[in-house]
Amino acid sequence: MNEFAQPRPLIDQFGRAVTYLRISVTDRCDFRCTYCMAENMSFLPKSEVLSLEEIEQIAKIFVARGVTKLRLTGGEPLVRRDIMTLIERLGLLKADGSLNELTLTTNGSQLKRFSAQLVESRVERINVSLDTLDAEKFAKITRWGRLQQVLDGIECALDAGLKIKINMVALRGGNDHEIVPMMEWAHGKGIDLTLIETMPMGAVDVDRQDQYLPLTEVIETIGARYTLEDLPLDTGGPARYKRVQETGGRVGFIRPLTHNFCESCNRVRLTATGELYLCLGQNDKVNLRDALRQDGPQAVADLLDHAMAIKPKGHDFEIDRQKPQKHVGRHMSVTGG
Ligand code: SAM
Ligand code: SF4
Repeated sequence: MNEFAQPRPLIDQFGRAVTYLRISVTDRCDFRCTYCMAENMSFLPKSEVLSLEEIEQIAKIFVARGVTKLRLTGGEPLVRRDIMTLIERLGLLKADGSLNELTLTTNGSQLKRFSAQLVESRVERINVSLDTLDAEKFAKITRWGRLQQVLDGIECALDAGLKIKINMVALRGGNDHEIVPMMEWAHGKGIDLTLIETMPMGAVDVDRQDQYLPLTEVIETIGARYTLEDLPLDTGGPARYKRVQETGGRVGFIRPLTHNFCESCNRVRLTATGELYLCLGQNDKVNLRDALRQDGPQAVADLLDHAMAIKPKGHDFEIDRQKPQKHVGRHMSVTGG
C-alpha cells in the first residue's frame, strides 16, 4: 500500500469493480497503420503530456484503490523516451505484491532492444500487434513498418522468456486469407492469437465499412478446418476464447460490433495527457492531469470517486451501411485500444 491508500475499492455506478488500468504513455508511433491513424497526424505538444513521474504517481493512486493490472499502450509505448525508467518503477509495485500484472501492447518494432529489460522489470507477458506475415502487405498496412524488424523482435522476446499474444485486426480484403496461416504460425510457436474487429475510432484515410470483417465469419472459416472448443476463460475484457483442438493453442475474438462485452467491464483508460476515459466507445472522462498539477495527488484520488459515478453502462459502436456511421472522434492511439 502506498501513501494514498484508501480502503475503498473503485466500484462504478453499476457495481462493476475497476481493477485494470490501461495507460497510453504517448500518442506518437513509428508506424501509421491504416485503420488506426491517418498518414499525416498532428501530435500533442509535450507540455500537455504527462511526465513519466506523473504517470507513476497516478498509477500508484489507482493501485492503492485496488487496481491490480496495468497495461502500457499508446501510440507505441516503446518509442517514448526513457520509457524503461517508468516500467522499472512500476515493476517495483509487482515486486512488493501490490500489482498482479504489468504488461504492454506493442507493435514489436523495439522488442530487440528492450525485451531483456522488460523481463528484468517483471513484465511477464506482452501483446504484439501483427496483422500479416507478408512483408509487402505489412508495409502497406503499417505504412512505415518493416515486417522483419517485428519478427526479429518477437524472437528476442521469446528468447528473453516473455509470453506473447498476437493481436491481429481482421481486415476484409486486407488479411482475411491470412487468418488461418497466422493462427498456425502463432500456435506453432506456442503463441495465442487474438482477432479484433475494426472499431470506428477517429478519422482515417480508408473506408472502415469496406474494411470491416465480422468475426462471426472468421469463426466459420476457422471452424471449417479446425475443431474449436469454447473456453470459459473470462478476463473481464472483451475477448472470448476458443481452444483449437488440433494445435492446442487458443484463439481470442474481440467483437465489439457483434458481441457486447460491457456488463463485465473492469477497466478504465488513461491518455497520455492524463484524461481518464471511462469507456473505449464513449466520451465520458475526467481530467486527472489538471487535478494532479493544480491540487495534488489527493485531488486525483477524490476525482476517481466521481469517475466511478459516471462510468457509462456500455459502448454503442456501429458500422452499418444502412445507417449513418456512429464513431468516436478520437483515434485508437489516444486511448491505446
Ligand atoms: N502501438 C501499439 C500496437 O500497435 O500494439 C499499441 C497501441 S495500438 C492503438 C493497440 C491495438 O489497437 C493494436 O492491436 C491495434 O491493432 C489496435 N487498433 C488500432 N486501431 C484500431 C481500430 N480502429 N479498430 C480495432 N483495433 C484497432
Ligand atoms: Fe501505431 Fe499501434 Fe496505431 Fe499501428 S496500431 S499506428 S502501431 S499505435
